[in-house]
Amino acid sequence: MRDFSQDHRWLSINTATVRRQRGVDWPLLDILDACAARGIRAVSPWRDQVAAAGLAATAQTIAAHGLELSGYCRGGMFTYTDAASRQAVRDDNRRALDEACTLGAPCLVLVVGALPGALAGRAAYKDIAGARAQVAEGIAALLDDARERRMPLAIEPLHPMYAADRACINTLEQALDVCDALDAARSGALGIAVDLYHVWWDPKLAQQIERAGRARLLAFHVCDWLTPTTDLLEDRGMMGDGVIEIAKIRALVEAQGYAGYSEVEIFSAANWWQRDGGEVLDTCIARHRSCV
Ligand code: ZN
Repeated sequence: MRDFSQDHRWLSINTATVRRQRGVDWPLLDILDACAARGIRAVSPWRDQVAAAGLAATAQTIAAHGLELSGYCRGGMFTYTDAASRQAVRDDNRRALDEACTLGAPCLVLVVGALPGALAGRAAYKDIAGARAQVAEGIAALLDDARERRMPLAIEPLHPMYAADRACINTLEQALDVCDALDAARSGALGIAVDLYHVWWDPKLAQQIERAGRARLLAFHVCDWLTPTTDLLEDRGMMGDGVIEIAKIRALVEAQGYAGYSEVEIFSAANWWQRDGGEVLDTCIARHRSCV
């Protein structure tokens, strides 16, 4: 297992971690400058932040700083109610793939979607098995586009509390079942993003990380699970402040040969988003060394 205690060579910042500080959007290009100034080598930006900053300007700034990406957030949301919405999803995901290529991302992260309309408060249907079938179909179609572009797809299982509204793939086992069905040859075109916030509790975690192996482990996201958790979405903890055995799980992933970035992804409306962005980045560096 790599020693992270001496430097932050393998730290990546998911830019949602510092997207809006004290009620003011922190522009993506300024976030990239702040990361580079601290010797942070990689980031994982969100599509809306890239759109606001401009795709070309973002790519330029990333290149100018010699930054790498640890992923691109995000594609997915595959479920639909009719042919038009199915096509719209596919078109949008193709655009996400193209952006990921322009930015030089190693993979496009997929949050797969759940019951259509549920996020807005009114699910169009209740058939979660049907939603899962639509997701598998959507990933299969996108995989063709991804292969053409040589841009791997990383399925991110989300915690079961999001099964209705954000992602109906909720465990690594489910995600890997889809991978095995669509890419039995383990070609590298399809894999998983292991986000500790979503999977730390899973009794099959070690077994499924081993099943994934190097070929399917495309991204590793860290934060912490706070007790109590006060918000289902925006109360993620800084590494070390909660109950996740981060280093132990990193050891499992690295035992399979994963040697990429450890990406900090924290949504924290009441705490970390209320602080100065530079302070948050400095804390990420310190905790990456001491707690990851
Ligand atoms: Zn994540």
